[in-house]
Amino acid sequence: FIESSKSQKAEVDKFLGGLLASGIEEQSCLSRYQSALYRKASSRSPSPYLLKRLRKYEELHKKCGPNSDLYNRTVNQLKPGQSSPGITECNYVVWISYSGLGNRILTLASTFLYALLTNRVLLIDRGVDMTVLFCEPFPWSSWLLPLDFPVSQFKSFDINSPESYGNMLKNKVISKGLAGALLPSYMYLHLGHDYGEHDKLFFCEDDQNLLQKIPWLVLRSDNYFAPSLFLIPNYEGELHQLFPEKDTVFHHLGRYLLHPSNSVWGLITRYYHAYLSKADEKLGIQIRVFESESGPFQHVLDQVLACTIKQSILPEISKNESMIITAADHRSKAVLITSLSTGYFKMIRNMYWEHPSKTGDIIGVYQPSHEEHQQTEKQIHNMKAWAEMYLLSLTDVLVTSAWSTFGYVAQGLGGLKPWILVKPENRTVPNPPCLLAMSMEPCFHAPPFYDCRTKRGVDTGALVPHVTHCEDMSWGLKLV
Ligand code: GDP
Repeated sequence: FIESSKSQKAEVDKFLGGLLASGIEEQSCLSRYQSALYRKASSRSPSPYLLKRLRKYEELHKKCGPNSDLYNRTVNQLKPGQSSPGITECNYVVWISYSGLGNRILTLASTFLYALLTNRVLLIDRGVDMTVLFCEPFPWSSWLLPLDFPVSQFKSFDINSPESYGNMLKNKVISKGLAGALLPSYMYLHLGHDYGEHDKLFFCEDDQNLLQKIPWLVLRSDNYFAPSLFLIPNYEGELHQLFPEKDTVFHHLGRYLLHPSNSVWGLITRYYHAYLSKADEKLGIQIRVFESESGPFQHVLDQVLACTIKQSILPEISKNESMIITAADHRSKAVLITSLSTGYFKMIRNMYWEHPSKTGDIIGVYQPSHEEHQQTEKQIHNMKAWAEMYLLSLTDVLVTSAWSTFGYVAQGLGGLKPWILVKPENRTVPNPPCLLAMSMEPCFHAPPFYDCRTKRGVDTGALVPHVTHCEDMSWGLKLV
């Protein structure tokens, strides 16, 4: 961006169309105030009702947040020997930090949506790195679950935990007719990809009615479960008002909730100014290979080139080596590649160094890191991963890999419909190599296929027009 327009632009839309509230100290979270300088203004406006609900949520969070009187009172219900709470003024959903960073970002957005729908306060388990990666999103009160939270075993909750809603139903510890006073004061919601049929009843209306009586819900998931919330009758009306444009759920909630910490913002902005800002066009290519060996694989390189050249995203190379171009009359393209390995980047960079492009475009190819393999528990590794997702979201055109939540985060934050590299079978280039996404929304990889009314299986991707199967995973569900 041009320095002189910096303050002017910041004035224009620092708060992203009213999505962000004022009241958070600027120095504590620079990205929150500066993102508008790096991103094109979104063409999709949040609905006035969403803005109203966010402000109302912020008030609720202030009233019920950690260390407030109401928090202390409600948390007391969790201590042994306390009687059942009945109706409480503050109710909570506790998000457990679990899985890769892309997955975590998607589950956070889904859980926050659930909190909005059910008037619960979202508190997050800080895991090993949440405070290093993200700013506090709400003014006045923290979203971090206090360290002395009495249900200390929540980190080991899994599909077998007797505290889970699914297991309590299965073992008949609870039943749907039970009065609030006979219900436990907390319950674990197991919504991970491996969840069972009883856990999946979470997505049914009657079950939601029961869960509303429980002050503390502790949720663990690795999936973007928002699309299935749109199929629960209790929430249909509210969701329609919040999101008249159904394909913007993650776009708005992600930009509301997820602000890179100052140290991650440093990674993002330094990289952006050094390698991307001056180009006429920015292209992001996210290469995620789900193979047991690390690669690079020839078929993946061939696929990336087949896609980008066929769609005129990247120019063909010319064999006319004597074609000499000058910077003055040619466009420059910065290609940001993210990948765990370095091979694809080197090959594409060399291709455009060794040969001129047919269009004369000047192609610069950059890759911030090559971490070789996933290291979910390491802080600097996840800081780089978050910075790269964010940098991808700042590009003009995006190519992503099928099945990858890393790419979903970039497309959603950027408001971009990406070209999705189709998942290769038998290590061959798929035909077509890539598909244009229907919407910028992430895909829910493990949705339930159950009709709560008839108690039979149903194709949940065929019930309403705005929840359909994903381009990259035939059984997945996405909002369009
Ligand atoms: P998904 O597995 O592609 O759905 O994405 P996740 O983000 O949930 O998990 C993949 C993890 O592997 C990331 O969080 C990173 O830790 C790492 N990773 C995968 N691809 C990249 C990449 O291109 N760059 C970096 N820095 N890390 C990556």
